Order: sequence, then structure tokens, then C-alpha cells
Amino acid sequence: MSDHNIIPGIHNWCDRWCEKCSFIARCAVGIKELDIIEEEQKGNNPDFWEGIKEQFTNTIKLIDKLAKEKGIDLDGIHDEEWEQIEKENEQKRKEGMEHPITQIASKYLKSGLDTLDSGIIENKLNSEIEKFELGLEKEAHSGITQLKDAVDIIKWYIFFISAKCQRLVMENMDKEFEDTEFPPEERSYNGTAKITLISIERSITAWGVLLRLIPEYQDEILSKLVLLQKLQGLIEIEFPDAMRFIRPGFDE
Ligand code: SF4
Repeated sequence: MSDHNIIPGIHNWCDRWCEKCSFIARCAVGIKELDIIEEEQKGNNPDFWEGIKEQFTNTIKLIDKLAKEKGIDLDGIHDEEWEQIEKENEQKRKEGMEHPITQIASKYLKSGLDTLDSGIIENKLNSEIEKFELGLEKEAHSGITQLKDAVDIIKWYIFFISAKCQRLVMENMDKEFEDTEFPPEERSYNGTAKITLISIERSITAWGVLLRLIPEYQDEILSKLVLLQKLQGLIEIEFPDAMRFIRPGFDE
């Protein structure tokens, strides 16, 4: 694949679900992911991890070389400066963890995982498979597919949302620079907010499918939807221009 096909920066504001991404062949990260998938499909290849190790070593060498060329002193931070940076970071981390967006995202993560682990979805899936095998219900096959797709979506985004919310809160604390330098559609924190909102919307849709297919666990499922909607509302308030952000490739 020639370089001019690559969309620069596309991987910065996507959901990292490369397998399902229509831009996989036009994304620098996606192309590497394709290589990994191919290697995995070839079976256990001892050279594969060696290759990764080699890539890492080469990257470190490249960083050293570039830093020297640009006169950047990679060891140039003194102990006192480190201490100060660490203190500030620690303070930010603490404030970040206390932010309502982080709090609700982590509640959703915990509660969502509890439901996924509880067996209710698996039981429903098994009963649909049984019905299908016995030929009892024509709709059983579509129920199986919908359940599986919904669970895949929830599982993919459940950690992603939590991680992005933490990042969002941290980015929000440092936004003065971007606010003065870039228009809203180019501010990185709006990009993070946008992909988080998209992930939340997809998760809401997926839990909605479960709500329809497993009505006997309505309360359990509804509690996730409430958390996700609260999170969506909070992000929309804190980042009112999120959806204006133009993600390379996806929104152009
Ligand atoms: S843009 Fe697509 S292929 Fe690239 S990292 Fe994101 S999901 Fe993966």
C-alpha cells in the first residue's frame, strides 16, 4: 500500500475496532493490525514477537537520533522538575478521578461487567439456540444474531468508554492552549469527546436490543441505559462543540 493512500491521523479519533473499520487499509495503525491478524492466522510464530521487539528497539533508536538532530535532551529533566511534574500530574489524576464524568463512566464499567458476567445473556442465547434447533420459532435465528451483535458492541466499548472518559477529563483541564490556537472542529479534546459520544450511542443501541430481547431483566438493563444517558448528557454539556470536530477520514 503506497503512503499516499494513508489518511494522516485517522487513528487518533476512532474506536480502534480495526476488524470492523472500513478504513483499515488506509490507516497506518490498521495496516499493522492487518499484519498481526495475518500472523496470528498463520499460527504461533516465534519470530512474530521477535519482530515486535526489534521494531521497539528500532523505534527507540529513531527517537534518540531525532532528538539529537533537533537538539532535544531526552535526559534533560532534573530531579526537582520531575518531582514537580509528578506532583502536578498526581493532583490532576486525583481531580480527574473525582470528576462526575469519570465517576459515572466507572460505575457503568463495573455495573456493565457485572451484568455481562451474570449469565443472563448467555442463558437467553442458549434458550434461543435451543428454540432454533428445535425449529420452534422462526424468529429465533434473528434473535441469536441480534443478541450476539449487541454483546459484541457492548463488550468492545465498555472499556473504551471508561478509558476515553478519563482522558477527556484530563484533556479538559489542559484545554486553554487549544482554545486559543484552534477552531472547535480541530480541537483534539472535541475529537475525544466525539468518539466517546459515538461509542456511548452505539452502546445505548446495543443495550436497547437486550432490553427488547430480555424483558425479564428490564431493571438490570435499564440501569446501564440510565448511566449511559447521564454520561452522554454530561459530555454534551462539558463539550458542546464535540460533534463539530472533523475526524480525518470518517467525517470528511
Ligand atoms: S482508523 Fe480504523 S483501522 Fe485505523 S486504528 Fe482506527 S479502527 Fe483501526
